[in-house]
Amino acid sequence: MHRSPQAAADALAALQQQHLRRTRRTVQGYADEAGTTQPRWGQAPLVNFCGNDYLGLARDPRLTAALTAAAAHWGVGSGASHLVTGHTHEHQQLEEELAAFTGRESALLFSTGYMANVGVVSALCGRGERVLQDRLNHASLIDGARLSGGRLLRYRHNDVADAARLLAPAEAATEAGSAALIATDGVFSMDGDVAPVSGLAALAQQHQAWLLVDDAHGLGVLGAHGGGVLELAGLGAQQVPLLVGTLGKALGTFGAFVAGERDLIDYILQRARSYIYTTALPPAVAAATRAALTLVRDEPWRRDRLQGLIARFRAAAVREGLALGDSETPIQPVLLGDAARALAASLALQQAGYWVAAIRAPTVPAGTERLRITLSAAHDEAQVDGLVAALAGALHGLEPG
Ligand SMILES: *Cc1c(COP(=O)(O)O)cnc(C)c1O
Repeated sequence: MHRSPQAAADALAALQQQHLRRTRRTVQGYADEAGTTQPRWGQAPLVNFCGNDYLGLARDPRLTAALTAAAAHWGVGSGASHLVTGHTHEHQQLEEELAAFTGRESALLFSTGYMANVGVVSALCGRGERVLQDRLNHASLIDGARLSGGRLLRYRHNDVADAARLLAPAEAATEAGSAALIATDGVFSMDGDVAPVSGLAALAQQHQAWLLVDDAHGLGVLGAHGGGVLELAGLGAQQVPLLVGTLGKALGTFGAFVAGERDLIDYILQRARSYIYTTALPPAVAAATRAALTLVRDEPWRRDRLQGLIARFRAAAVREGLALGDSETPIQPVLLGDAARALAASLALQQAGYWVAAIRAPTVPAGTERLRITLSAAHDEAQVDGLVAALAGALHGLEPG
């Protein structure tokens, strides 16, 4: 973009024309305790079906109480980075509890999942080394590879054979050039399908490559104990040395972590610039997350309830003849094929009282624009039934794509 008074306005107009301009909707408050509905002037409340608060913990009073009590003790800001004076007892305890929860020696907190992925990938991948990534990986994993100066190689979605094909040639080359990191989302954030982690783990083992699984959407949600895709697949630290988890989704708070073997995590602490050069999370957020972790462990009914709602949603959608993705997780995409259709469907749902954001390029590949519906344990059966009826109405009312 050239620097001229008109340049930004022209660029915005072009985005608008392509139905790609993004805007925000300001949440004015909540109409129920769990925060699934929002009041609207003169209209029925709007039911949120596109957040990531899968277990309904974000507004749980026990988390709020833990946060408030910790803020009374520690204040609000941590006041410095972890390596200076910002690393408190709350952070330390949370790291130990996250390590225990994930069955790993050690865990390291980051301020966000974006920063965790950027930091871990760039810390472990040297210039010229290979980073293999699923084509549909989260932007933060891709950006970490770009920042590292490594060679980013993207394999076809969930295709272990394609990843193997990309790994093979350089192995014949020099020993130095053969280091590699494989990174995948555990549950894909826009599709809800699960990565073939066992296949990738075997591949990584065979080629002595690192394997990183970012289970932002699986942790707390999948597996009998909420251990995520690795619990489902029965894989431990031996097979998957690097596990990234986020705290802003199922855990209902904010932040992220990487967990693994002690020396590896300590090495990341030495090298990850997005860890070193930033202020530590507020200790009160760490305290609230400790409370959340207890609930994830002690209230398995949240996962059961969520699975029940997912099954109910899918069965009702099938009865309505709606085409769904290949997803057993709370992320349920409805593909619409272009930005204009996705926006129109989202608007129609909003008029019917349901908030489902349209997801457009470049968040998803062009031509796969969609509604990304997400379910939460905080929803009830009537809300899910109402959503499916409104969805059927909205899709039948669209121009054919
Ligand atoms: C949301 C998400 C992130 C980023 O986490 P934040 O804490 O929101 O920055 C990383 N990876 C995946 C797969 C995600 O869905």
